[in-house]
Amino acid sequence: MLIVQKFGGSSVANAERVYNVAKRVAETYKKGNDVIVVLSAQGDTTDDLIAKAKEISKNPSKREMDMLLSTGEQQSVALMAMALTELGYPCVSLNAYQVGMMTTSAYGNARLKKIKPDRIRRELDRKNIVLVTGFQGMNRFDDITTLGRGGSDTTAVAIAAALHADQCEIYTDVEGVYTADPRIVKEARKLNEITYNEMLELASLGARVLHNRSVELAKKYNVEMVVRSSLTQAEGTVVKEVCKVERMLISGVAGDDEIARVSLIGIEDTPGKAFDIFATLAKKNINVDIILQSIGRDNTKDISFTVQDTALEEVKAVIEENKERWNLKKADYNENLAKVSVVGAGMVANAGVASKMFEAMYDSHINIHMISTSEIKISVLIDKKEMHKAMNAIHDKFNIID
Ligand code: ADP
Ligand code: ASP
Ligand code: MG
Repeated sequence: MLIVQKFGGSSVANAERVYNVAKRVAETYKKGNDVIVVLSAQGDTTDDLIAKAKEISKNPSKREMDMLLSTGEQQSVALMAMALTELGYPCVSLNAYQVGMMTTSAYGNARLKKIKPDRIRRELDRKNIVLVTGFQGMNRFDDITTLGRGGSDTTAVAIAAALHADQCEIYTDVEGVYTADPRIVKEARKLNEITYNEMLELASLGARVLHNRSVELAKKYNVEMVVRSSLTQAEGTVVKEVCKVERMLISGVAGDDEIARVSLIGIEDTPGKAFDIFATLAKKNINVDIILQSIGRDNTKDISFTVQDTALEEVKAVIEENKERWNLKKADYNENLAKVSVVGAGMVANAGVASKMFEAMYDSHINIHMISTSEIKISVLIDKKEMHKAMNAIHDKFNIID
């Protein structure tokens, strides 16, 4: 069998953990499997590198940030190769350049386009355990890119798809995908399986256990993923197209506390204004999430929308540049917000879900600022400091247990 195993930052955080992973990898190799290992940077390395950059420059170039951040993953694969060599196993470490991991050119948030599998295949034929850097790629200018925070999961799935692996295992510091972040909701329960669509929603709505693009890719190429712990032998969660068990109404609760709201007040109430505003933001690659427009009054209207808080400075600059053209009376910003969502394929045909969620907020005296719904999720925007309380209240209300 050809098996891809990805280990996250906490799983390789120090020498002891590196050896723990090396031994697990060796177990799989000893059974006669071909093994490709994808690694993240050790522990808080990526955060530390970002902090180092901030010491030098407030607004460093995105190209140089990727040059810097990609070094974390390179350390991990080299150290793992040394550990496996000490244990007596043949192996080789490779970076994105060496495996031809081609991406778009968007530094900091690149998308994988193609992998040239030749080098990995050659190394597997030589019976090497192949250690590949997660999170990084290269663009058509031969520059290093990164895939966005948490992007090593996506590297693993892309390699599994490109080489038609039999298994893609994502090892992390929890035993699988839970009904909510087990560090926030103590009653959260591990799921045995979850569909791509539900996992995609949870990941996109803040459950950082999987990078959302990894799930997107897995769905597209039908790669079955298993999420499990690198520290225990527990079974983990299978992420796949269809689940055997009867669907629960709700599969999980997710929270995202990196949200900022922008309110544009007193916009002229004429056709084309929303188009102009959001087209201008889209041109700058700024992703907008929830949008709310007020009913027009006195020929003016207000438009509020949310963005990732890391994009707020850029949004402010765009608004500053365009405020005269848009005849803006005022712009208002709030960074102290969080989005809490309930996800489940079973809610499509169930009218009571929204009211139950709002009741949970009411019971806990939590004020809702904005609401957004789709066929399989309902999200509310609330104050950041209430996020944990809200997640627990919703989890309780829906009684998400067996
Ligand atoms: P890694 O470094 O292994 O990629 P991450 O920190 O990116 O690990 O993701 C694992 C973390 O995701 C867990 O420690 C947990 O706190 C968090 N998490 C958030 N939502 C969930 C969920 N629904 N199920 C499991 N873990 C979750
Ligand atoms: N090291 C990167 C990060 O911290 C990628 C990853 O962990 O998947 O975001
Ligand atoms: Mg991760």
